[in-house]
Amino acid sequence: ILDVQDLTKEYQMGEVVVHALRGVNMELYAGEFVVILGPSGSGKSTILNIIGGIDTPTKGKVNYKGTEIGELDEKALTKYRREAIGFVFQFYNLVPNLTARENILLASELSDEAISVDDLLKEIELEDRGNHFPSQLSGGQQQRVAIARAVAKNPAILLCDEPTGALDVTTGIGALKVLRSFNRNYKKTVAIITHNKSIGDMADRVFYVKDGVIEKVVVNEHPMNPEEVNW
Ligand code: ATP
Ligand code: MG
Repeated sequence: ILDVQDLTKEYQMGEVVVHALRGVNMELYAGEFVVILGPSGSGKSTILNIIGGIDTPTKGKVNYKGTEIGELDEKALTKYRREAIGFVFQFYNLVPNLTARENILLASELSDEAISVDDLLKEIELEDRGNHFPSQLSGGQQQRVAIARAVAKNPAILLCDEPTGALDVTTGIGALKVLRSFNRNYKKTVAIITHNKSIGDMADRVFYVKDGVIEKVVVNEHPMNPEEVNW
């Protein structure tokens, strides 16, 4: 569904050039669940942000279903970001003065193929918290709302940058269950950046990033369910 070729990202910092990415090649298949692991500063977020169309590479290409996203005009790029891609960040970024239900609804209105907000509230086990504002929810609950919001517009690809980074194991598993069920039930592509190697056991494939390149890719013949993983 997505083909990334020779992505390079450089930052000119005064006299020094920072090489954030040094030629990243990766392919994402429709419906797979991938995990991206690697040390801090290795380039993981940069890859995801470029794939999601919220950052641009110095060099290289991202091809989504046959279209080079680098060649899209502003309008088409906005459409790509809005319809094809969903983002989940470490720190939820919910709209504070909207309730959980309204936060999810806002996103679902971006799409003709939106998933029902009630179904999503059930899925994230917050049927009884729809009218709570983010400040009235726990961190794990807020993260599940943020995931439901990203899922609501039914994007082809869900990109998650450390979705469990701020959560303890129990609430993290709750968040992963939602991501997993979106992936398996709706057959959507999900890519997760994490520092937690255990999450790799859930993946169809694990990408190891080091110093701005993909060092290796490991295929899991038997990806686990969140409940089966040895946390
Ligand atoms: P972490 O696990 O800590 O989130 P990461 O793998 O996501 O790390 P990136 O955020 O992709 O790493 O950063 C890759 C490299 O690019 C880092 O060395 C970082 O310092 C550099 N970098 C990122 N953004 C900028 C920027 N705006 N200006 C200059 N350098 C940057
Ligand atoms: Mg990062």
